[in-house]
Amino acid sequence: MDLSLTQEQEMIIGLVRRFVREEILPLELKLDPDADALDAVDRDRLISKTKELGLYGLDIPPEYGGPDIDLVTRTLIAVEMAQHRAGLYAPCYGVFGGAGLAQLFEATEEQKDKYLYPTLRGEKRGFFGLSEPSGGSDPARAIQTKAVRDGDNWIINGTKLWISGADRADFGLVFARTDSSKGRNGVTCFIVDTDTQGFHVRRIVHTLRSAHYATELQFENMVVPAANILGELNKGFAIANDRLTRQRIPYAAGCIGVAMKAQEMALEYVPQRETFGAPLSSRQAIQWMLVDNDIDIKQSLWIVLEAAEKAQRGVPFRKEAAMAKLVATEAGGRVVDRCMQMFGGLGVAKDLPLERWFREMRIRRIGEGPSEVQRHVIARELLGSSLR
Ligand SMILES: Cc1cc2nc3c(=O)[nH]c(=O)nc-3n(C[C@H](O)[C@H](O)[C@H](O)COP(=O)(O)OP(=O)(O)OC[C@H]3O[C@@H](n4cnc5c(N)ncnc54)[C@H](O)[C@@H]3O)c2cc1C
Repeated sequence: MDLSLTQEQEMIIGLVRRFVREEILPLELKLDPDADALDAVDRDRLISKTKELGLYGLDIPPEYGGPDIDLVTRTLIAVEMAQHRAGLYAPCYGVFGGAGLAQLFEATEEQKDKYLYPTLRGEKRGFFGLSEPSGGSDPARAIQTKAVRDGDNWIINGTKLWISGADRADFGLVFARTDSSKGRNGVTCFIVDTDTQGFHVRRIVHTLRSAHYATELQFENMVVPAANILGELNKGFAIANDRLTRQRIPYAAGCIGVAMKAQEMALEYVPQRETFGAPLSSRQAIQWMLVDNDIDIKQSLWIVLEAAEKAQRGVPFRKEAAMAKLVATEAGGRVVDRCMQMFGGLGVAKDLPLERWFREMRIRRIGEGPSEVQRHVIARELLGSSLR
């Protein structure tokens, strides 16, 4: 087992690290502390740069024009890309592009023309509509949105809750029940245009996330052509589950990046700050916080990299992805919390990114499946069929 980075990995990670420090951090100084977007001129300029670096659309498969970088390296890149104020939910403000809804790679050619290619070109945006007011932890049972066949169309009625970015999207994936007798085998994924009659989106609450409203979607006799079914009828839950499993790896990597940056800030600060006639760094209470941070960061990094390596090799990685999400989100929260404590009053001021990380990191133990659900996934993998 070789735990060292290859020369190529070191080179790419060095490039991204410099990009964040030289391009993103200076711009962020001028932005509102809660901003989640750059102005159009800066955005276009930086997109041209990431294209020049050959790093645009990192998660786009090479056959669709992506840069063909393996998942372990992309995980290390995701750790770097998160190391700025908006890094948890808007890593590098999106200037590295991305595949968007990865399920669309499984779409029909007609669907790809309409939704996938425009997304890859940055012309269209999608949302992922799974959770409902009846619950998001166990969506297979909770989904009540119903689709009923009507000739070549399906008529959809129901409500989705907490859906990110639906107020700014052109289309989205909507998971609806198409066979009520079959549980998780009775859910189908529909691609839905947001300008369809009967589609209603409403911003509901401003969450702990900066510059972000959660949305509620209502479908009122919304007519969707059968040609807009993604994958197979009644097989939509497998599509949702696959996406959730894969997404856990970059989601976890972002938490580690933020934890690393917070720890770097604390390591710089505590030797300079004096209380009671001596630097904070001379106090064992402070040293132990730094030590615990270092251990939290290292443990979660190895677990996340193991998940990425297994996914890359094509072997089962469900348990490892759940562990990665669980460990990195919880460790990230502890690290940011300790760093805030070491900075004192400054730790909670908007002058530093810590308060934003603290708020947004808290969501991470709930979004994309709460910690308890990750433990449930791991327990199922450990106990297998003996668990009812
Ligand atoms: C900011 C934000 C953005 C989101 N974006 C999206 C999105 O784009 N698309 C989307 O589909 N969803 C989205 N969600 C929804 C998110 O995935 C759900 O909030 C999450 O899955 C939890 O579902 P819930 O809120 O219904 O909680 P519930 O399912 O009601 O669970 C409540 C709590 O119960 C506990 N719990 C649940 N199951 C168990 C168990 N088996 N054992 C022990 N304890 C348990 C957990 O602590 C959980 O937090 C978003 C949520 C937030 C906050």
